[in-house]
Amino acid sequence: MDAQPTKLAYVTGASRGIGEALVQQLLAAGYRVIGLSRTTKIDHPNFTFVQLDLSNLEAVKSFTFDETAPHVLLVNNAGMLGEVGSVGAITDSTFERVMRVNTIAPQILMNQFIKTFNKIAESGHILNISSGAGKNAIDGWAAYCASKAALDLFSETVRLEFNLHQTENWFIHSIAPGVVDTEMQSEIRNSDPSEFKSLDRFIALKTENQLASPTAVAEKLFSVIQEPKQFESTILSVRDF
Ligand code: NAP
Repeated sequence: MDAQPTKLAYVTGASRGIGEALVQQLLAAGYRVIGLSRTTKIDHPNFTFVQLDLSNLEAVKSFTFDETAPHVLLVNNAGMLGEVGSVGAITDSTFERVMRVNTIAPQILMNQFIKTFNKIAESGHILNISSGAGKNAIDGWAAYCASKAALDLFSETVRLEFNLHQTENWFIHSIAPGVVDTEMQSEIRNSDPSEFKSLDRFIALKTENQLASPTAVAEKLFSVIQEPKQFESTILSVRDF
């Protein structure tokens, strides 16, 4: 009988884009992976799909980290851009939904993950997929920018608390993945030009082949997962390594 994998990863947004590419790398490296999203297309003996809509916070609060292993990883990768448009012109519900998916659901999952594993796992790592838009304002994206900025500072606070209370084997990083060739980028290129003055820049990135592939970005994320101690700063950008 095969031995149980000693490394277990919970990954949100595993169905496509960066999340799917990262799950494929984790599975190839012998991880057991639990993927949380609304849909899935991964079929692998070490992969389990849990259907979860992160905009439904009651469902997120009901999720339990039932499986365990000596080394546990949580990747908060799922994210949404939301309605693109200037503040004053967009619907109020955009703020709520973007914050629920990009910020509050990851916060609840981090809380439960730490609560579940901090006494029983040999090591724990949280990897939040942030964005350059959490550091630099982009017109039409106020909800998204604010949601990622909040994720960054939340991560820094958790890091401070790890330093104060946890063992040295707990790590957290909030990583901007660069501009990546996924559905999110095609959604961006389909924005209404009258609501998004930066549209030409994003169209040019695609036509000039400047977008990174999800696989290349997943390789960089995986290098942080493999050697978390090497990445001292909590806030990272894949462009820096
Ligand atoms: P993507 O291709 O659009 O994939 C988004 C993923 O999030 C999907 O797996 C989707 O799964 C999941 N998701 C979205 N809403 C969800 C919900 N309500 N509940 C559960 N899962 C949900 O996007 P991506 O480009 O790979 O983005 C991954 C992360 O990178 C995001 O956090 C994004 O903000 C960040 N990022 C991307 C770029 C870029 O250039 N692509 C740049 C900076 C940051 P289901 O639809 O199956 O639920």
